[in-house]
Amino acid sequence: MRPNILYPLFASIESLKGIGTKYSKLINRLCGEKIIDILFHLPINIVDRTYNVPLINAKDGRIWTGVVTITEHVPPQTKKHPYRVYCTDGTAELVLVFFKVYADSIEKNYPLGGKRAISGKLEYFNGMWQMSHPDYSVSAEMLPQIMRLEPVYPLTAGVTNKMVCRLVENGLKNVPSLPEWLSSDSLGDLEYIDFKSALNRVHHPKNPADLLPSSTARRRLAYDEILSNQLALALIRQKVREKNGRTFIGTGKLYKKAIESLPFKLTSAQEEALAEIAKDQNSPHKMLRLLQGDVGSGKTVVAFLSMLKVIEEGAQAALMAPTEILAKQHYETISSLSKNLGITVGLLTGKLKAKEKREIYEKLQSGEINILIGTHALFTEGVTFKDLGYAVIDEQHRFGVNQRLSLSSKGTMSDVLVMTATPIPRSLLLTAYGDMDYTKIGELPAGRKPCVTAVMNVKKMPEIIAALQRKLAEGGRAYWVCPLVEESEKSDLAAATERSEMLKQYFGDVVGLVHGKMKEAEKDAVMEQFKKGEKKLLVATTVIEVGVNVPEATVMIIEHAERFGLSQLHQLRGRIKRGYEVGTCVLLYSYPISSIARERLNIMKQTEDGFYIAEKDLELRGGGEILGTRQSGFTQFKLADMSVHQDLLIKARDDVHNILKQDQSLTTPRGQALKVLLYLFEQNEAVKTYLAG
Ligand code: ADP
Ligand code: MG
Repeated sequence: MRPNILYPLFASIESLKGIGTKYSKLINRLCGEKIIDILFHLPINIVDRTYNVPLINAKDGRIWTGVVTITEHVPPQTKKHPYRVYCTDGTAELVLVFFKVYADSIEKNYPLGGKRAISGKLEYFNGMWQMSHPDYSVSAEMLPQIMRLEPVYPLTAGVTNKMVCRLVENGLKNVPSLPEWLSSDSLGDLEYIDFKSALNRVHHPKNPADLLPSSTARRRLAYDEILSNQLALALIRQKVREKNGRTFIGTGKLYKKAIESLPFKLTSAQEEALAEIAKDQNSPHKMLRLLQGDVGSGKTVVAFLSMLKVIEEGAQAALMAPTEILAKQHYETISSLSKNLGITVGLLTGKLKAKEKREIYEKLQSGEINILIGTHALFTEGVTFKDLGYAVIDEQHRFGVNQRLSLSSKGTMSDVLVMTATPIPRSLLLTAYGDMDYTKIGELPAGRKPCVTAVMNVKKMPEIIAALQRKLAEGGRAYWVCPLVEESEKSDLAAATERSEMLKQYFGDVVGLVHGKMKEAEKDAVMEQFKKGEKKLLVATTVIEVGVNVPEATVMIIEHAERFGLSQLHQLRGRIKRGYEVGTCVLLYSYPISSIARERLNIMKQTEDGFYIAEKDLELRGGGEILGTRQSGFTQFKLADMSVHQDLLIKARDDVHNILKQDQSLTTPRGQALKVLLYLFEQNEAVKTYLAG
């Protein structure tokens, strides 16, 4: 149960004064639905509305705020003309200019003979002060409320800054004084400011430095958020450790046979990974382990081999993939790897007919199926295993921490292994997977082909198309990646649809198109055609990022590469490194290109080391620098910025370690306050599952 003290923060934004239902939808889209969401929506700039000299002394171009008396209304003679309202501050005359407005609203807002407090940009025009469409017009007594350093918020179409400011101000009135969850010794150099004051401070910046992530108030809030994250993960970890798992020793029979029939020798990194996993399996504790390895490092084989121990003891294993096509691919790989082992592998996807599904269910319940592979349907539908001992999740960033938690908290004693192909910087690893043990496969199988990466101006497109024509004529296959399919962005983004039409003029029917707005089934169908070679040039948005294995595809062209994040580029490029020959990756850019974007492209050209790229990525990633990326999707921080607050992360981790050492179930006064913190940052899953029960 959420503590009562937090209720005012979790009321809906709609309940605030100053917002109608008409706008609440827009606001919800901008930041969320609850009051706390708008309070966590932080300003990015300041407008100075404190300039208030007598108009006669004012400077052209400044934003002026002051009280004026309305002296005359001059409605427009024709529609083209503006509506003019004359007024004065007693020292000079000022004309307010309005285009396309209703006379009613002007008359109401600027009553003749009345006094109004206004704010807007002054312009000296035809020997007179002019202000067109003042930003504010309020009653004269309200002058102090608008004459201030006004925070500027990130906005969305249809939402004005004024509206956000008003909501924030009203929202701030709802902030209760909360019990302090930081202790002075845990603060260290973190200067002391309580949560409520910090929140007030960030929304009332007094100077540009207050907007920086390094400001005291922002650091305090960032620390609170990070602390809640680390505490939640630690609680989960603590609970998982307590829970009994099972011990799988195995007979080694299947394992031995499988190793003997592998068409290659395991890399030592793979062997080490298997040994670490085996240690978990041998111990009575539940395994919760992350298997990290670059694309093509051979994680699937490791996952498969580690399943055999479980099967040898008569239990079942499951592998969950993020998409149908990946599930199918895993199914094919694992079926072929287990060909001579006499075990049964099943595939369960949404595509199956009811009858086929029933058949799988039966075989699963009877224990005939040893390994079941599928999408998340595996765990949500009424699928019952005879005895599930081991679940492998191929995460590829599609599943969030919560989904993983809900799976591992299902009360089963099964071991869980999460595979991820995205190299994750250490700090992010702590925030996203702090509940897990890690194993890293830091080595690719020998004989892997390198990939040549070129960075080129988009103007070279004709040459690239000519080279592609030769490549496809030789039987090659290629990806062509476009950043977005977004109607509104069409003017400057090479929309994938348009690009595919253009490429069809050169290549004809062999051009296929996949994009994020397609249905899963349609997407899979096109991917299938590409795999089979019916399509040879696959135009795609980033949907192909997820591990599709087409060894014939060795060329990738990425348009507007300057708009992608590093780890995304790396993921994309990984697609062509599983090929029969050396891959070619062409990163096309167009102007304008920021220096950071240019550096990203250079890094891509210089290295293929995913872990290095991941660290650089975090380093370079500035707020709002990267467009259209999902890559930061796994750190759902609103207040903390992992590229600058890494020190807080380490601090929070240690803090949590000490807290739990002294107060394992959070019962001391500080522990109680920390529970409030968990609810405040909606670490509900952690609290529900791991504190209550
Ligand atoms: P990942 O899942 O890490 O992206 P996979 O397990 O799909 O990688 O492996 C990629 C390819 O490399 C597969 O075709 C697999 O058969 C092959 N492979 C895996 N391990 C080795 C190895 N030790 N030596 C050679 N090839 C390997
Ligand atoms: Mg794989």
